[in-house]
Amino acid sequence: MSRRRPGDRLADVGELGLLAELERRGLTVDVEHDAALLSGGLVVTQDALVEGVHFQLDWISWRDLGYKAAAVNISDLAASAAEPEALIVSLGLPPATLVADVVELYEGIAEAGVPVRGGDTTSADRAYLSVTALGHSVHVPGRGGARPGDLVVVTGPLGASGAGLLCLEAGRRDDPAAAALVRAHNRPPLRLAEGRALGAVATALMDISDGLATDAGHIARRSGCHLAIELARVPVADGVAEVAAGAGRTRWELACAFGEDYELLATVPPEAPLPPGCVVIGRCEAGQGAVFLDAAGREVVLHGWEHFR
Ligand SMILES: [Mg+2]
Repeated sequence: MSRRRPGDRLADVGELGLLAELERRGLTVDVEHDAALLSGGLVVTQDALVEGVHFQLDWISWRDLGYKAAAVNISDLAASAAEPEALIVSLGLPPATLVADVVELYEGIAEAGVPVRGGDTTSADRAYLSVTALGHSVHVPGRGGARPGDLVVVTGPLGASGAGLLCLEAGRRDDPAAAALVRAHNRPPLRLAEGRALGAVATALMDISDGLATDAGHIARRSGCHLAIELARVPVADGVAEVAAGAGRTRWELACAFGEDYELLATVPPEAPLPPGCVVIGRCEAGQGAVFLDAAGREVVLHGWEHFR
């Protein structure tokens, strides 16, 4: 990572550049995993959703927004092989917001199954929702243990969330043909059981929030090895190919480079038992970086999503 200049803006360096700079200065410590691992196996994670950045209120119901805010944080606990225990919810809302809408938001949070144990509410000029999730884990594999010879696995099909977002952008919120994809975007899966099962065998484990391309790159960098992913083995959710074609994209771009699928990505020794639903998509080798290969073994370049850019 090159040294930053005084006039750099967030748009210049991107989210990953900012995090690398803070880490280089010693202003954050041990932040490479999905959640902070504290003494006693306590695992803590926090994610914020901002109106106009992560969601638009004409694309998502208050109930789904609450569910999603809880689910994306519970996903980081799943990626830590943790048992969730509590959520802390901080809300920023315009004063004109209906109380009934806020109640619906909390009903959505409750649907995710982890109790809200505290938080804060403040006035804001647009909706802002930050959830902290706490749990306990016996063992957090983290991102740094992948070794040559390991298999790369995912817990389920990818691309539905990205395709759902494209449907929303195209004004298809109420189109029955797009319903499953829109739902996938607004209601990420909870992979807690898979996370605990993988936690017992995985050499690296994380959730796919920024897209397989970016997130596989995180494991490669932290582990000091090379991840070779075969596109033909990547499970793509139903309906993704059609939406991709309609948007002038490939299904691989939606499945591997769009993000927000919240399936788990793991590396496991070849003899390890895999939980149901897990699919092998590639292997770890000596070297660096993550690449996607087509059927002929040629590299296909796919880029992930990065905030601020
Ligand atoms: Mg994560």
